[in-house]
Amino acid sequence: MSAKFPRTDGAVPGQSAQLADGVSGLFFRVGAPLFLGVLLASLGSLLGLRVADITLLLAVLAVGVLDWQLRGAARFRLRLVLALLTVLGLFGLSMSGPPPDTGVILLSIILMTPLSALLWTTYFSRYPAYRALLVGGLISGAGMVLFHFMRASFLQADPELTSVHPLVLAAALVFFSLLATVFGLGVAQGERAARQDALTGLLNRRAFNEEQRHWEGGGWLAVLDIDYFKRINDRYGHEAGDRVLRSVADVLMDTVPLGSAVYRWGGEEFVVRLPPMPLAEAQIILQEARGEVAQRTFAAGEHITLSAGLSPLGGEPARAFADADSALLIAKSIGRDRVMVAD
Ligand code: GH3
Ligand code: MG
Ligand code: MG
Repeated sequence: MSAKFPRTDGAVPGQSAQLADGVSGLFFRVGAPLFLGVLLASLGSLLGLRVADITLLLAVLAVGVLDWQLRGAARFRLRLVLALLTVLGLFGLSMSGPPPDTGVILLSIILMTPLSALLWTTYFSRYPAYRALLVGGLISGAGMVLFHFMRASFLQADPELTSVHPLVLAAALVFFSLLATVFGLGVAQGERAARQDALTGLLNRRAFNEEQRHWEGGGWLAVLDIDYFKRINDRYGHEAGDRVLRSVADVLMDTVPLGSAVYRWGGEEFVVRLPPMPLAEAQIILQEARGEVAQRTFAAGEHITLSAGLSPLGGEPARAFADADSALLIAKSIGRDRVMVAD
């Protein structure tokens, strides 16, 4: 059975969350390795180590490829190390080189920080018109900044300044990407919280409403309801009721296969979307969840049961939901603790 990790599996993340993930992916796969590679290569050439230069450059670029391949905690640790190295690299950069360069870098960072913060927060806002406007502004702004740096370096006859030029470009790139990552992750986190049920950690009703528009390719929809749940609240209090709700959510998450999505639809009602599979298999999964709940002991030796209605997904999701809900009502009316399939 699947672990709890893919809790939002099968969910369609919000547009700006996808964009934020894309931007941070770009930073950690391209921006940071490129910057670190350039930094290491220039350190190497200072020491005259040609072969070591190339080896280091390749090794750091390989990190970008590794980031693409890794998943979960391993990727997070790799990104943490990369972010740390980048910050250290930027710090080292600002401390080295001839004084005018350090000044230019520091000044541009100081000047651009509030501006970039404003740009990126608005960029990730919900209004498409703002976004379009800001993308245009950001691209032309970044272009102008780069052009300015390039012109300044080429016009200066000072060879030392010209040799720092790629580093300045890389630093500007990393700076923008880092900001995008920070704000992007913040937005993604906020979006995730808005779509999550605070009590159970499942996807909430809002996520259900948003996602059903994207459901295609079949599968199954189940509506589940805890039987006589009010009794638990009445006898043992709402805290005990909340614990039962969390346990049922855990059972559902532990039972559904990868590619499913589990929502808390309301009070003690849950919705499960299963990927395409034969009816018999979908029934087995729901029976497994029902059986697991039935054999668990909750508050003070109390047992609870689940009723469920199951319907195929194909046409209108609202139709499938109504059918599964009717099947659930039948399950309730003929004795509860059972799974009924819509006809
Ligand atoms: P049935 O078998 O017909 O479904 O009976 P039931 O008692 O489960 O259904 P009913 O709709 O009468 O009661 C649902 C109860 O769920 C009432 C409400 O107080 C409780 N409830 C809803 N949300 C929460 C919650 O977040 N926490 C707790 N503890 N109780 C909740
Ligand atoms: Mg109910
Ligand atoms: Mg109920």
